[in-house]
Amino acid sequence: MQPMSTPLPPIEVSPRDLSAYRRGNTGIDYVHRFDSGRPGPHVLVNGLTHGNEFCGMVAVCHLLDSGVRPKIGTLTLSFSNVAAYESFDPAKPFESRQITHNFNRIWSPAWLDGAEDSIELRRAREMRPAVAAADHILDIHSTTQDVVPFWVYPDFERNAVVARAIAPPDVHLVMPAGLGSGTPLVQYDGHGRADGSGAALVVECGQHFKQATADLATSVALDFLGHFGLIEMPPPRRAAPLRRFELLRTHVIQQPDFAFVRPVIGFETFARGELIATDGALEIHAPCDDCTIFMPARKAIVGREGVYLTRPMP
Ligand SMILES: [Zn+2]
Repeated sequence: MQPMSTPLPPIEVSPRDLSAYRRGNTGIDYVHRFDSGRPGPHVLVNGLTHGNEFCGMVAVCHLLDSGVRPKIGTLTLSFSNVAAYESFDPAKPFESRQITHNFNRIWSPAWLDGAEDSIELRRAREMRPAVAAADHILDIHSTTQDVVPFWVYPDFERNAVVARAIAPPDVHLVMPAGLGSGTPLVQYDGHGRADGSGAALVVECGQHFKQATADLATSVALDFLGHFGLIEMPPPRRAAPLRRFELLRTHVIQQPDFAFVRPVIGFETFARGELIATDGALEIHAPCDDCTIFMPARKAIVGREGVYLTRPMP
């Protein structure tokens, strides 16, 4: 088994002071809304669901700083977990993902209407009306490891259409049965149901701290607004052939000794039955041929996701 630790990556993009963006115009801190006064979709572009995923911060700052205004419909721009973001320490750059709860696993009535309290639950409850008001949601993320960017979305055609229209990313991680480890923002209420309407997608733009990741996040955000007609569609970008993967299972770490059989960063493939990782006495084997792993944990933290097992789709 491999020890679960890798060297710290270089920090090309650092946090900036967001205090100027705190007071929005919605009554919710760090949430800004621009109404065109004309009919059209309500689009939400959200960054900092995870506090150390700076690309979403860069993209949303770009939209605010450049004075983007919708031609039709309504645009809402938000920074979610600013509290976690503000706790960033370059010596421990992976620690500021969240304070207590993963902000992206608590979008169910059980959590939102429940009795527990945390920075993230308070923030999600505060932001709930802004999320509920949106027809279409782009939730901007980045990855621990330096892997190709990809879309993640519940397996509804209304999401696939958008992901196909915006590339790169040219890799899709499709979730036929949801995430399996909690309810992400993009599965809130109707966005998590087949009879819902409106698109809601996560874009994973590359490694957290790379400039290229921030650049891609900004491009994707502009394309998303272009796709829904809020701004002119930006010129097409160069994309590779589409690759799609179906999420089969999300493994949540049970024991502090969780470890992979070899060093992995994501996109490694395993033959059916091949051992991928161990977690205490539990062995995690590939459930299918060409089982492709996504988002392997960098460090074993009990209760957090260890690895996503996927199957390539034709
Ligand atoms: Zn994230």
